Amino acid sequence: YAKLDSSKHDADSDAISLTQIATTAKNVRFRNEPAADYDDPEPDYDSDGAGNHRYNGARPKHGVAVLPALPGSAAGNLRQTARSADTEHDLSAMENLNEVSILHVLKERFKHDVIQTYIGDVLIVVNPYKKLDFYGDRYHEMYKFVNKRTDLEPHIYWTVDHAYRQMTDTTKNQVILISGESGAGKTESTKLVVKHLTHICQSTMSNLHDRIVKVNPLLEAFGNAQTVMNQNSSRFGKFVELNFNASGHMKGACIHDYLLEKSRVVHIGPHERNFHVFYYMFAGMPAETLRYYYLEDPMAHRILKSDHNQKRMFYDESDRKLCKQKFEEMEEIMGKVAFTKDDISTIYMCLAAVLYITNVEFQPEDDNDGVTIVDDFPVNYVSDLLTIDVDKLKTSLMCRTSVINEEDVIALKTMEQANDERDAVAKALYSRLFGWIVRQVNSKLVDSSSASATTSNSIGILDLSGFENFVDNSFEQLCINVANEKLQYFFNTFIFATEQAIYAEEGIDWSHIEFQNNEDILRLFLGDDDTAPSGSKRSFRRLPNMFTILDDESKSPQTTDSSLVRNWSNNLSDAQNFKSVSGDELAFVITHFADEVTYSANNFLEKNRDRLGANLVSLLQKSENDFIKDLFSAELADTGVLSRTKSKIRKSTGCGLGMKSRKSGRGSVTGETVRKLKTRGKHQMPGTSLHKVQTTASQYFKKSLEELMRKMRTADPLFVRCIKPNLDQERDMWSDKLVQRQLQYSGVLQIAKIARLGYPVRMSFCVFYKRFAMIFQERVPMPSGDACRKALKAAGISDEKFAIGKTKVFMKEDLADHLRLATLGRA
Ligand code: ADP
Ligand code: MG
Repeated sequence: YAKLDSSKHDADSDAISLTQIATTAKNVRFRNEPAADYDDPEPDYDSDGAGNHRYNGARPKHGVAVLPALPGSAAGNLRQTARSADTEHDLSAMENLNEVSILHVLKERFKHDVIQTYIGDVLIVVNPYKKLDFYGDRYHEMYKFVNKRTDLEPHIYWTVDHAYRQMTDTTKNQVILISGESGAGKTESTKLVVKHLTHICQSTMSNLHDRIVKVNPLLEAFGNAQTVMNQNSSRFGKFVELNFNASGHMKGACIHDYLLEKSRVVHIGPHERNFHVFYYMFAGMPAETLRYYYLEDPMAHRILKSDHNQKRMFYDESDRKLCKQKFEEMEEIMGKVAFTKDDISTIYMCLAAVLYITNVEFQPEDDNDGVTIVDDFPVNYVSDLLTIDVDKLKTSLMCRTSVINEEDVIALKTMEQANDERDAVAKALYSRLFGWIVRQVNSKLVDSSSASATTSNSIGILDLSGFENFVDNSFEQLCINVANEKLQYFFNTFIFATEQAIYAEEGIDWSHIEFQNNEDILRLFLGDDDTAPSGSKRSFRRLPNMFTILDDESKSPQTTDSSLVRNWSNNLSDAQNFKSVSGDELAFVITHFADEVTYSANNFLEKNRDRLGANLVSLLQKSENDFIKDLFSAELADTGVLSRTKSKIRKSTGCGLGMKSRKSGRGSVTGETVRKLKTRGKHQMPGTSLHKVQTTASQYFKKSLEELMRKMRTADPLFVRCIKPNLDQERDMWSDKLVQRQLQYSGVLQIAKIARLGYPVRMSFCVFYKRFAMIFQERVPMPSGDACRKALKAAGISDEKFAIGKTKVFMKEDLADHLRLATLGRA
């Protein structure tokens, strides 16, 4: 049991302060609980998918002040005391809510492994980078039917319990929005949310809970990768929707995936890796199986090599072992949850095809501008793996075919085009495969026996990449940051409304408080009508905005990335947050809510058009393998952006689909046709006729974002803000600067800011009287609002500095400071 060093502090004393707790805590030892008490094998931090063993068997360094009060123990007393004397586990109850105080409290708590803190109903979680012992069964029990949030230590299980109770009490959908930058702990938090939910409710299907938890490693194998930020970084966003019937039993789940970073398939940065699954395959497949897929030497594949790693696939033997273990786990899940043997084999064929098609090299042709393929064997393997005609494959890799005046015309590709289109096929194949896996998983997460007609509710959990500001920022960052702007708008609106409710409850007028949300920037991007002032008749959507201009430019063959930037800077109607950069015609700067970000428009148009060469698509559609055929069928045209988990799938891009084709070898290309075609401009190659493109990546992104926001708006939201304490993925390390920046991004400081717009310091009449007795003319046994008002007036304080509510005095910060100083002066 914990023992306090009684010479320093009395555990029962009321007067213990936060800093005292911090120092006292160092002298506190908790009972060394037997390992059996920590009955929680999940989440398993010792195997994060990328060779990280660091949490294996590790015990927390300080076992201090993190457990909910255990009756009778000194630890319990300490915490109880902490709670009554200091409200540090709910920041919003602090008298002074500002950047410095928030940072200080979080840091002190982190020092003692207290990683979870509330600010009102918002939960802040600081990533401990070590296994802590408060996620096991005992805690599942403790946080079941929690009466009052403040009865127990802050915990993500409270957020979950609360969401579930709200849903069953009000029959309103709930969403838990988990945000934070890469490596902050979003995905681990998402898993904890699902895990607690499966503990507190029953399901209509016997092994549904199990399945929901178990599919994670499978999705992570295909959707996660090692990055410099996080060894197990999710390279896609997800919205997990858990569905319940009217009696609160879980009856199914649906995973929606967003924005898979498909560029990673063909390009990995220094010290990063491709998607986990490639490494798992090489580590786990028996040699003869690998050979069956033509795979032998991982280092023979361009996309598995990165600048720092030209020679070895695995860092060391333990890395290889871990990947092998992950492979076995993945195979087991595939077998158990969703896939037939044939499915699994086809998945590996696709992966091998991705590995080989990206190995295809081109060289310029001597006598005209086209390219030839350097070595035939990767193409032969691809044609074999995907069961497509090898000659046609070669032709479509080197040439573009189109129909002009009912005649097939063939144009040679430049080196750049050939390389780009080859990579585009690999990206499309991988992302469609991922989409298919998600759909397949979803089909196994519904209880088909339970009557779907019964009224039901859902709890959604959003795990989406946080705000990104890298050295190089492109279209992908723009989309992620716009999604974050939207969520920030939602968050601010919600927090503002909550704050408003506090004032209303206390009967204080709020009307004079004006809050500037980030609607300007949303209008800049989306011309967003959601942010229109109420009563406004103007349709913002129709005003020129970045996305409509991008789409217009994408339709035209004459445009270039730099003309896009010029067009933006000349035509945006709401442009104070947009700046072009002199001297760099592709660069532009956006002032986001979180920070200024410099983007490069390089490849924006291509990425937005998001299309595959027409003849490559039609070739893949002719595969003898139905799976591949389906993957590239018109309805499943690659969106690259939105979940393909729903039946509402983007209509055909029409990129030459269904076009007549004629068997035409390279010999049929004449210099004349090539010249004719070249005069049509760089971007308009026939067969990819741009006017036929119906849905662009940005349109799709906008649609999916709208759909997501609709779900958010019709639900009660709860927020979890994940914070990364250091950039080294190390335990017990804290960087003030880094945390402060994230508090800014995450909107936590916004809560303080909104509070400051009104009266940020609030004290009950009693506390006010106790604290500032000197301004009261007479002793009062039970101070009332009137007594407080009289005292303040008598002290010459002007009206706008304070407001008297039903139970509390509300003050501006400077007034509170002034009173405090005056008290000190008296003392
Ligand atoms: P994100 O999804 O925000 O990028 P992750 O959830 O993948 O980040 O977390 C990154 C790593 O941090 C995990 O692999 C794990 O090692 C560690 N981690 C995150 N949350 C916790 C936690 N609550 N307890 C212990 N370790 C954690
Ligand atoms: Mg993640």
